[in-house]
Amino acid sequence: MTTPACLRDTACAGRVTLVGAGPGDPELLTLRAVRAIRAATVLLVDDLVGDGVLRYARRSARVVHVGKRGGCASTPQAFIHRLMVAQAQRGERVVRLKGGDPFVFGRGGEEAEHLRAAGIEVQVVNGITSGLAAATALGVPWTHRDHARGVMLVTGHARDGGCAPHWPTLGAAAAQGLTLVVYMGVSQLEAICSGLSGALPTHTPAALVQGATTAAERRLVATLGRLPVAAQHAGIGSPAVLIVGNVLHGVAALAHSAPAEPAPPIRGPRSHCGDLATGTP
Ligand code: SAH
Repeated sequence: MTTPACLRDTACAGRVTLVGAGPGDPELLTLRAVRAIRAATVLLVDDLVGDGVLRYARRSARVVHVGKRGGCASTPQAFIHRLMVAQAQRGERVVRLKGGDPFVFGRGGEEAEHLRAAGIEVQVVNGITSGLAAATALGVPWTHRDHARGVMLVTGHARDGGCAPHWPTLGAAAAQGLTLVVYMGVSQLEAICSGLSGALPTHTPAALVQGATTAAERRLVATLGRLPVAAQHAGIGSPAVLIVGNVLHGVAALAHSAPAEPAPPIRGPRSHCGDLATGTP
């Protein structure tokens, strides 16, 4: 007996597959993600999904861009929920394509809960999260055993009406040997760095990576004390990940030994390795 096509497909009718599109570079998609995208008849796409990823979609697939970028008009989440349910109930093979990993921020959890509550089966295909890709772009592991015992993934952006993270507490945890990786933190950079500085020395290495793995990737390595000014100076904006901790010592030392301008690229087209070169905390 042959298996029906639907059961062979990762994206199956009556089901929604939440697919992690990775940080941008389509080379970083998993095989399972590519298979799901190829099988989809409807794709609901976030705007942090790299352009090249959609090349795997069928020509006949309906592609709906539903993303938002910090501060811009966005498709209401309730609309996305309704659309996913309606399309799945019509028998479409729905893929919800999300930047990075679907379950690392970005509301993948809420979407899965809503779909399950509506009786829709949900599959999740992991993707490489941007915080991991950002560390790799800097050439550092999250958990080099000489420097870190673990890693914390934190949002820098409080949910509407919610509490902002308590940065001194997170700084104290980082001081125990945890690398801190902050998503959605660019607009709060000053508050984050000054909050962390309560518990961490201002000369702790800190870095921003914007557009990790994309053609527009930019990296900035400085100290906690200098990063906000350096970021403003370099014009670093969203989407970017902030990484703080001693795992950055190596790249910080590189920045220290290199001339401040022009910045030496570690990898990729544009890079700013700056403020440790001045030695100012
Ligand atoms: N699910 C995503 C995160 C979504 S929240 C993931 O796993 O990566 C959106 C935030 O992710 C952005 O504000 C930014 O902090 C980060 N981000 C997404 N793509 C990025 C990229 N290519 N480079 C740097 N940061 C990125």
